[in-house]
Amino acid sequence: MEIIRPAHTEYHEELNLEYRFRNDPEAGFAFPWKDGKVVLNNLSEKNFMWCLEHPEEVESLGVVKRKTSCSVPALARCECGEEIFLEDRYYGCCQCPNCGKWYAVAGYEVNPPDEWEEDLEEDEW
Ligand SMILES: [Zn+2]
Repeated sequence: MEIIRPAHTEYHEELNLEYRFRNDPEAGFAFPWKDGKVVLNNLSEKNFMWCLEHPEEVESLGVVKRKTSCSVPALARCECGEEIFLEDRYYGCCQCPNCGKWYAVAGYEVNPPDEWEEDLEEDEW
């Protein structure tokens, strides 16, 4: 198999308009902030209106920038041509949905799990 793109971590910056409870600073609301205005859906609009109407309950923190990160698994091409993400689906391995071959997340082919019985810690007599 061929690794198209190795596993890596992606960082994003997120802007949120944040409110926190005056009596519980650990809790609050964060509304996504984009192009100079708050982005709301039906559910968050209710919360947002509630925040606006209850300044005695919640304190506005303004627009807060936070860094988020997520790990992106390696993208690989299976021998059959299918592009798959090398994700830990089953004991550090994953299966090509097209041809059914199994790969370890490190990028090498492994036997299918039903041939692993000698490795499993189950003593059946
Ligand atoms: Zn395949």
